[in-house]
Amino acid sequence: MEKTLVILKPSAVQRQLVGEVTARFERKGLRLCGMKMMQLTDELLNRHYSHLASKPFFQRIKDSMMAAPVVCCCYEGVDAVETVRAMTGSTNGRKAAPGTIRGDFGMSFQENIIHTSDSPENAVVEIYRFFKPEEIFDYKLANMQFLYANDEY
Ligand code: ADP
Repeated sequence: MEKTLVILKPSAVQRQLVGEVTARFERKGLRLCGMKMMQLTDELLNRHYSHLASKPFFQRIKDSMMAAPVVCCCYEGVDAVETVRAMTGSTNGRKAAPGTIRGDFGMSFQENIIHTSDSPENAVVEIYRFFKPEEIFDYKLANMQFLYANDEY
């Protein structure tokens, strides 16, 4: 089954939205595989946001991600990457659809509450960028028969 990375950014931690945001993923039926608070570093963010290195706001984004600790979460489910991305909403919080996390909790392009992996390939790289293998747990959810039909997973 597919796994994806969610990072509750400093904007979520400082605004005390960690519970509200993670509750959405739990209620959706995603399985929590790993969760930890950490202080991001410039070195880690150079790798995580390498696709934005040429942007004029690159340093500002990195500073924003280091302004407080973040909470990294790994979730698992059928089509988890696409499902979590849809729940996240578009990058600019002002444009993100109501009902999405960015659409419901933020007003900003930069301070947009969460990072979520954008493809299954990137998800694998990102999960192991932020978690050690032993920090990802492979227990089974006890209510699988009520989350999916048995031919869905
Ligand atoms: P996403 O997080 O939606 O996958 P990107 O990977 O393009 O988007 O950008 C990473 C993060 O950088 C965004 O979540 C946002 O915090 C910030 N960012 C991206 N583009 C801008 C921008 N034009 N202005 C301000 N912040 C931006």
